[in-house]
Amino acid sequence: MTVQTVEVPAYRAFPVQVARLRRLSPSFLRVTFTGAELDTFGSNGPDQRIKIVLPLPGSGLAGFPTGPDWYGAWRALPPERQMPIRTYTVRAARPELREVDVDFVLHGATGPASAWAESASPGDEVVLIGPNARFDGPTGGYEWHPPAEASCLLVAGDETAVPAICAIVETLPAGRRARVLLEIPTAGDRLDLATPDGVEVTWLPRSAGGRAAAPRGSLLTAAVVDALRELADHLSPSPVPTLEDVDVDQGILWEVPGGASLPARSSGVYAWLAGEAAVVKDLRRHLVQDVGVDRRSVAFMGYWREGRGSD
Ligand SMILES: Cc1cc2nc3c(=O)[nH]c(=O)nc-3n(C[C@H](O)[C@H](O)[C@H](O)COP(=O)(O)OP(=O)(O)OC[C@H]3O[C@@H](n4cnc5c(N)ncnc54)[C@H](O)[C@@H]3O)c2cc1C
Repeated sequence: MTVQTVEVPAYRAFPVQVARLRRLSPSFLRVTFTGAELDTFGSNGPDQRIKIVLPLPGSGLAGFPTGPDWYGAWRALPPERQMPIRTYTVRAARPELREVDVDFVLHGATGPASAWAESASPGDEVVLIGPNARFDGPTGGYEWHPPAEASCLLVAGDETAVPAICAIVETLPAGRRARVLLEIPTAGDRLDLATPDGVEVTWLPRSAGGRAAAPRGSLLTAAVVDALRELADHLSPSPVPTLEDVDVDQGILWEVPGGASLPARSSGVYAWLAGEAAVVKDLRRHLVQDVGVDRRSVAFMGYWREGRGSD
């Protein structure tokens, strides 16, 4: 007799609808999704990433393949029938209520995800590709791995990283020393964030008080440079490696400790940096080449690239 085992995938497709919307600020919209199967939605690290499958104009999500090989089947569709797929962060998951919150940056109707969010209404449908709580093993999909021995944490990013960074801050125990830097579009985009003792949060609005908007990344870069100066006592510069160039217009800048090539380093400063890819690339050069921060202590993540859609 042959016993057939059904393979449980680590990630799966969850059909969901918009339950409610909450405008958090001029640039942030919280979308709460609900779905009958979200009771098996798993969530691991605070920066848990998911994919959102968006409806096509006219045909919506009709024909989206939700089986275990949904990706292969989606790729096999003719390009005009492939629904757009974008990466977002789980701001909060409440499987017991079958709810997931995602905070969207509203950057206009220039991309399918932002355009969808700008006009979203309760009842609208999307598909979330997220971790499966029924999977018996690590599902991954998050990069926040601070070693317990790290004496200080540096967490920095732009508005697209704000949902992940807010969730990270909420997990920090009181007394953990952390410097948190968030570049946001406007002063009105500062969000309420409870900060444990020892955590210092700085919001960096590009537009504030009627002054001309600062160039994207300029405030974040200057603030990271200053923070590293302040944290000099925690740094034990490592031999400066020659960095391989990453072409952020062709590839993805994604360098995280923990992989085979970059085993995590345990003490000193641990840094987590995410945002526009060219800005993160500059920060990488500064941290690793100018300051000599050990690459094994830093997660560098290009979340998006200015002028390029993330299809
Ligand atoms: C791991 C991960 C987690 C992420 N989490 C979040 C999250 O929680 N919330 C969130 O809002 N984003 C998040 N992002 C970023 C998001 O995936 C991108 O911003 C994505 O490009 C949005 O898709 P779109 O369809 O709106 O635009 P696209 O079709 O990808 O791009 C269209 C145009 O818009 C520009 N563009 C894209 N994003 C922005 C922006 N934020 N501001 C200005 N111009 C932009 C592009 O450069 C391009 O010119 C995350 C990305 C990653 C990799």
